[in-house]
Amino acid sequence: MSKVVLEGVEKVYSNGFKAVHGIDLSIKNGEFMVFVGPSGCAKSTTLRMVAGLEEISGGTITIGEKVVNNIPPKDRGIAMVFQNYALYPHMSVYDNMAFSLKMKKKPKREIEKKVREAAKILDIESLLDRKPKQLSGGQRQRVAVGRAIVRDPEVFLFDEPLSNLDAKLRVHMRVQLSQLHKKLKTTMIYVTHDQVEAMTMGDRICVMNLGRIMQVDTPLNLYHYPANKFVAGFIGSPAMNLIEGELIKNNANIAVKIGGMVLNLPIKKGEKVKKHVGKKIWLGIRPEYIGIQKDDMKAAVNGTIDVLEHMGNETFIYFSAEDLQINARINSLDSKDLMVGKKHDFFINMESCHIFDYDSEENISL
Ligand code: ADP
Ligand code: MG
Repeated sequence: MSKVVLEGVEKVYSNGFKAVHGIDLSIKNGEFMVFVGPSGCAKSTTLRMVAGLEEISGGTITIGEKVVNNIPPKDRGIAMVFQNYALYPHMSVYDNMAFSLKMKKKPKREIEKKVREAAKILDIESLLDRKPKQLSGGQRQRVAVGRAIVRDPEVFLFDEPLSNLDAKLRVHMRVQLSQLHKKLKTTMIYVTHDQVEAMTMGDRICVMNLGRIMQVDTPLNLYHYPANKFVAGFIGSPAMNLIEGELIKNNANIAVKIGGMVLNLPIKKGEKVKKHVGKKIWLGIRPEYIGIQKDDMKAAVNGTIDVLEHMGNETFIYFSAEDLQINARINSLDSKDLMVGKKHDFFINMESCHIFDYDSEENISL
């Protein structure tokens, strides 16, 4: 296993398009790092530069102690698994897995040992004689991973390897890959556009947008302390409510004014954002911090319920207040008597809100 370091990494494609704008990232030995972001944000481009499949236009990439900018893919100590598993259709599972070792002219005994070991780890020992077309999607996926394992790479690179699987199998393979990482303890870089995959698999997550890193942190830190509006809106489902407003002084309090509504901030948060009073901001509030008003709770808004989605364990409420569309998630037992079209008071737990500068979109309330 190896540490991977990207310093000032840039990519300009031959048509002049700048896909990656100076990425700095240090991935630890044995870490499971996830690149996540919307389609086109340059996750694959960045991964392919690490792999050596794409030339680096600027900066340096180091794997272990070696700068690899000019080192061909086969000598970088990496193994990559793609979305389309790219198995050789005419070869058996065994031969698919053995292929790279045969190319390296490894002794037959060693090849057999490695293939069987990998097959055991992945629970595909009984499939070694089959051809890829005789396998299910999940089994093919495992063969593709097996082909990577036999190479004993310093670093595994995965580019959306589960995207072709159905939802249930994706969940299953997600767990398997996490367990594989625990077993092998090899550094892994895993690309996905799916924030649930990112949250559940990553030791740390690198959130990207438009060829730039937005934030790198642990799943829980990203969720609870998003550095900016982009990360706040991208991580979490249903997404954080992001509402345009203004910071004002309300007697002794600092408050957020949204339309005609004034919501006081708790004292500590108020202190943090005090110097921005008078400016436009985005108020960020996760759906779980909005609920049905009870007794003496503060910060209430009155809204009309537009849609109720019953998940079973919880209920998502979409309601409108003034011109705003807001969503809340509450315990399903508390939603039994709610009705679409009816008005309700909703509390907002301002202790857990975030305030983002309107222009820079940076979180100014951390
Ligand atoms: P992601 O994997 O995050 O979906 P990609 O890394 O595939 O994104 O692409 C990043 C950006 O680079 C996109 O805007 C894409 O259109 C562009 N791009 C990808 N490959 C090429 C290429 N060969 N030439 C020019 N632009 C490309
Ligand atoms: Mg991609």
